[in-house]
Amino acid sequence: MPAKDKPANSNKPCPVCGKPPAPSFTPFCSARCADVDLHRWLGGVYRVETDEPAAEPLRRDDD
Ligand SMILES: [Zn+2]
Repeated sequence: MPAKDKPANSNKPCPVCGKPPAPSFTPFCSARCADVDLHRWLGGVYRVETDEPAAEPLRRDDD
């Protein structure tokens, strides 16, 4: 069995939570973390989850 079996990056922690990655979800530790990372990317396209308040229409009682 050759020693060059594992990839060099197998020891990198999950970029989402920092836990050791699972082989099935590398570089993530779980499907959840992979999903979280995916949503981070997609979030910038059509679904932004930020702390910024939604644009509310100004209510003028000055009429
Ligand atoms: Zn994780």
